[in-house]
Amino acid sequence: MTSAYQQQLAQQLRAAEDELGTLRRRVAELTEQRDTTRAGGQERAALLEHARDPLEPWGGHGDAWPDIAPAINTLIARAEQAEARIAAVRALHQPATGYTGWGPDDDDTPGAYGPISQACSACGSEDNAVRYPCGTIRALDTHTV
Ligand SMILES: [Zn+2]
Repeated sequence: MTSAYQQQLAQQLRAAEDELGTLRRRVAELTEQRDTTRAGGQERAALLEHARDPLEPWGGHGDAWPDIAPAINTLIARAEQAEARIAAVRALHQPATGYTGWGPDDDDTPGAYGPISQACSACGSEDNAVRYPCGTIRALDTHTV
């Protein structure tokens, strides 16, 4: 036979056990968050270490994102500007037909003159054509002339 007091104690014990379970789950969640945060911090530190030297000339100093982000933005802007300039050069140097020049398609003899099936629209002229791809396009494509 249990007394009302014992029943009350048992009820309090169950409530305490429920609360303990809730707290244990919360501690597990917080522990996982802490580990994730630590891993993120380590990854961030590794990225900063990796970025430090390459970004130094652009104003990036590897210890702080406030210095790194503008350096990255500067590099992105320069890359976009360079790509736009390369596109403008490519638009200028297009393959053209109907041109003639030295070293025509049907003659292997150096010094011959005649039609060139694909000439650069920017290099040379219609009667003194440069074969396409010209040196400019070859340099853009392969970094060699
Ligand atoms: Zn050209």
